[in-house]
Amino acid sequence: MKIIMLGAPGAGKGTQAKMIAEQYQIPHISTGDIFRANIKNGTELGKEAKTYMDQGALVPDELTVRILLDRVAQDDCKNGYVLDGFPRTIPQAEVLDAELSKLNEKIDYAINVEVPDENIIRRMGGRRACVNCGATYHMVHVPPKTEGICDKCQNELILRDDDKEETVKNRLDVYHKQTQPLIDFYSAKGVLKSVDGTIDMMDVFKSITDILG
Ligand code: ADP
Ligand code: AMP
Repeated sequence: MKIIMLGAPGAGKGTQAKMIAEQYQIPHISTGDIFRANIKNGTELGKEAKTYMDQGALVPDELTVRILLDRVAQDDCKNGYVLDGFPRTIPQAEVLDAELSKLNEKIDYAINVEVPDENIIRRMGGRRACVNCGATYHMVHVPPKTEGICDKCQNELILRDDDKEETVKNRLDVYHKQTQPLIDFYSAKGVLKSVDGTIDMMDVFKSITDILG
């Protein structure tokens, strides 16, 4: 099963994608996580991606597509995957589509997690991410057992640089201009399913599993 998560930054794509990956035993692929791992390891790719990410801008399509296609060609993707944060532009979606067509494959579901902008701004200020394993928490909705410490690996939790309010506003602008058109793109292909992302995360997950079966 090949699934795409659509939705604004902070809509809960990562939260839901991790649960989907576990339930359906498919890899969770987040281009944002791949870029952050490269930044942490000081690679050339990380250095280039960081200049865009810090401003809330998108990393150029060419670079992002290359990374993603390499990842989905790996062995663990044979039975499908859940993509989180990719595609984010129509050209990215078109390349993915063309590559899948060559293999006689297609995206089965594009799950659109709907959350209005006002909720997003509030949510992102409360998001905390582990510097080591990338696990995410929310100060109010998903607090760690010990404040500021990751439950999974005991490393420090931080507010991502790009989750600061000014950058979140830029990211929302970018989302509306460049990513939202994907909703029509996948709707036209008959694979779009929208869910209410403002409710409790376990209820969001229930709506998604009702769709995926
Ligand atoms: P995205 O991957 O779309 O950027 P995340 O999954 O990281 O979003 O979620 C953004 C923040 O909102 C995180 O702090 C997460 O814990 C929290 N969150 C996710 N889903 C919900 C929900 N249904 N209700 C409240 N908070 C949520
Ligand atoms: P995320 O973790 O999905 O919120 O992504 C964090 C940042 O990484 C984004 O604001 C972009 O700068 C960059 N990024 C992640 N995925 C993509 C993508 N598919 N295309 C372009 N930039 C991306």
